[in-house]
Amino acid sequence: MPICVAVPKEQTPAERRVALVPEIATRLVKLGVKVVIEKDMGKSAYFMDTAYQNAQLVDTAEQVYQQAEVILKVQPPTLAEIEQMKAGTVLIGFMAPHHYPERVAKLRDKKITSLAMELVPRISRAQSMDALSSQASVAGYKAVIMAADLASVFFPMLTTAAGTIRPAKVLIIGVGVAGLQAIATARRLGAMVEAYDVRAATKEQVQSLGAKFIDMPIKAEGQGGYARELTEEEKQQQQAILAKHVAAAQVVITTAAIPGRPSPKIITQAMVAGMTPGAVIIDIASEGGGNCELTQPGKTVEYQGVIIHGPLNVPSQTPLHASEMYSKNLFNLLSLMIKNGELQIDWEDEVIVGSTLTHAGEIKHVPTRQLVEGAKL
Ligand code: NAD
Repeated sequence: MPICVAVPKEQTPAERRVALVPEIATRLVKLGVKVVIEKDMGKSAYFMDTAYQNAQLVDTAEQVYQQAEVILKVQPPTLAEIEQMKAGTVLIGFMAPHHYPERVAKLRDKKITSLAMELVPRISRAQSMDALSSQASVAGYKAVIMAADLASVFFPMLTTAAGTIRPAKVLIIGVGVAGLQAIATARRLGAMVEAYDVRAATKEQVQSLGAKFIDMPIKAEGQGGYARELTEEEKQQQQAILAKHVAAAQVVITTAAIPGRPSPKIITQAMVAGMTPGAVIIDIASEGGGNCELTQPGKTVEYQGVIIHGPLNVPSQTPLHASEMYSKNLFNLLSLMIKNGELQIDWEDEVIVGSTLTHAGEIKHVPTRQLVEGAKL
């Protein structure tokens, strides 16, 4: 019997991305799978029901959950959604386990096999499944577009009859996947770009994109290619050097993050006060509290003429391409588990094992198990 892969409509307000795009639905059917989607599932990303020619359309989420052996989602499932899932269902999507321990507990209790896209190991073989990267790329691009929109200046140099306009000075703080895409996008728009990260390896990447790297003595490589938190002394050293670059910038884009920790505060109120009125800060780290002391997540505020924008769920604001990329990530992960149209999970595969949050009534991801079960460990 071919397995049924089903996709409900997203419930989270303002989430416009969708987990399955028509091209991937067709590819799943070619793997011998039955695809079921809830009516209007793709609409928020402009994929109409008629485009999913190979899928079976159902009217309600209840019908989706009744038939599903595999469920694809973008946002973590709500408690009500988990309640509707059958025991043994495989659920793949973002799970935000640190934010929703009670949902993880429910996934465990309902014996759902959940694979969390944020847990996909960042190894070469899993690059095509790396949704953190694909969505960070979208966010980095969109942050620059938002900045260009809110900025009081042009990005490119313009030579006009009314005089020559100098290119905008853009500073990117945090040069992971989002930061690199932000540099590339700001350069394409013609800005002069400077960038900074605590990981020394980023210097070459920044320079290869035609931007200037701000060198500092602080090196804070953590584990697995991530950054570690800075000491108080390092923070002060960083702020002293960064302050003049921040003051000179007309646009600052901040993307700095440390796994499992709140966003590091890098731009202080005093640094914002030193900026020119009309300057803009786009803080896409605002999901984790923000890199600027004045960021209010989800809001746009002004301080002494400087605009500080703290957008949430930035990838959702470019829903069509963000969904295409995300859907491909899901497909590449799911296809590891499908043989001849049937579900065959290889529990020796490091990608599958590393991505699994809950299975057979247990929380498999150790830090989440500690968080949810604490003393029971
Ligand atoms: P992230 O979202 O965790 O953080 C963004 C950036 O913020 C990082 O570059 C980090 O060094 C930087 N940062 C943290 N604290 C800072 C501070 N105080 N000041 C300045 N910068 C600070 O990062 P990410 O985009 O998820 O990438 C993390 C790592 O994973 C990178 O090394 C990246 O190359 C690597 N990666 C590997 C793969 C793969 O091999 N498949 C895929 C994607 C990313």
